[in-house]
Amino acid sequence: MNSLSDRINNLSTSQTLAMAALARELKAQGKDIISLSLGEPDFNTPDFIKEAAKKAIDENYSTYSPVDGYAELKEAICRKFKRDNNLDYKPANIVVSTGAKQSLYNIAQCMLNEDDEVILPAPYWVSYYEIIKMSGGIPVEVPTSVESDFKITAEQLEKAITPKTKMIWYSSPCNPSGSVYIREEFTAIAKVLEKYPNIYVVADEIYEHINFSGTFCSIASVPGMFERTITVNGVAKAFAMTGWRIGYIGAPEFIAKACTKMQGQVTSGANSIAQRATIAAVDADPKVLNYMVEAFHKRRDLVVGLIKAIPGLKINVPEGAFYVFPDVSSYFGKTLRGTLIKDATDFSMYLLAEANVATVTGDAFGNPDCIRFSYATSEELLTEAMRRIKEVLA
Ligand code: PMP
Ligand code: GLU
Repeated sequence: MNSLSDRINNLSTSQTLAMAALARELKAQGKDIISLSLGEPDFNTPDFIKEAAKKAIDENYSTYSPVDGYAELKEAICRKFKRDNNLDYKPANIVVSTGAKQSLYNIAQCMLNEDDEVILPAPYWVSYYEIIKMSGGIPVEVPTSVESDFKITAEQLEKAITPKTKMIWYSSPCNPSGSVYIREEFTAIAKVLEKYPNIYVVADEIYEHINFSGTFCSIASVPGMFERTITVNGVAKAFAMTGWRIGYIGAPEFIAKACTKMQGQVTSGANSIAQRATIAAVDADPKVLNYMVEAFHKRRDLVVGLIKAIPGLKINVPEGAFYVFPDVSSYFGKTLRGTLIKDATDFSMYLLAEANVATVTGDAFGNPDCIRFSYATSEELLTEAMRRIKEVLA
């Protein structure tokens, strides 16, 4: 008999983490796996951030922190929002959490009642779907495709709105498509939302700085949107701090208070040392990240070029984050080396088995025609991975 709760039985395993674990396991068995599954920078955390953490240890930042984060960190985050996004958040609008993942979970728990609908432009980041479901909400997917650069239009959004719509969640730059929404697109979306004052927006901006488009817009800065947007960000990606586990939100005060109450019963304040280090990170001029952003940009160009040379794969040119999301549907129904490829999951598993390259199926992101490659690895490994893929698809 299964004694586990319906809640956990109905929860899917994170497919990004599952694929990363499988790749790790195969590597441990001696297989020459190239893992393009997990989205995490292959850089070390910058030294000035590590120094701030060492200092925090020596200064005995070893006790519980305030549940919503240290006051100095919340002030630094307000400065960052003003500097980078022209947003006037006050410390009372900020909640620091154990990764942006917890920020998102808090929001879902605090905002959703049973059967509230949440619009998810697809492809969306894997965990949105499950976090929303776990919180009683109903994810409503709005499909896009490589032809529309994986972006939704204001018209598509309006068609998806029902009396039950409570929120819209998206990321820009997008994980997994790398698409970046521009101000004009958000202005059109805001115009639709003017008619529906009860809908809130979750703007996940965690890839803000990993952006090659030269433009970035926070939807909260579009007229009429500030009071109805929850801006989510964190240090994991831009500062190569995935393991430090610090994320944060800027939100209307009543939502920030609710998330603090939630977190106070579940985890308490985020890790004290990591919070002190994050003060140094968010206070730094984003120019200090240029060397990483430039490396990602170069790899993006490399990978896009190599993928375009593989017959049957269709891609957009991602403008941010560190993923490419090719449409592989031209292979569906074909048999390669004796394996029938029915869907994107079969395709991804075929690449793992035959090319020793780990990817993530697009099903996990709400787009069953695609697969995701993370290019946060060396040019040498990327070149070798694409060579192998081309070979096993020939
Ligand atoms: N949002 C997106 C779009 C992501 O790709 C990730 C991946 N880590 C997160 C949120 C969660 O970030 P964190 O590591 O800070 O929990
Ligand atoms: N966000 C990264 C990814 O999408 C990390 C894995 C995860 O947290 O799911 O691969």
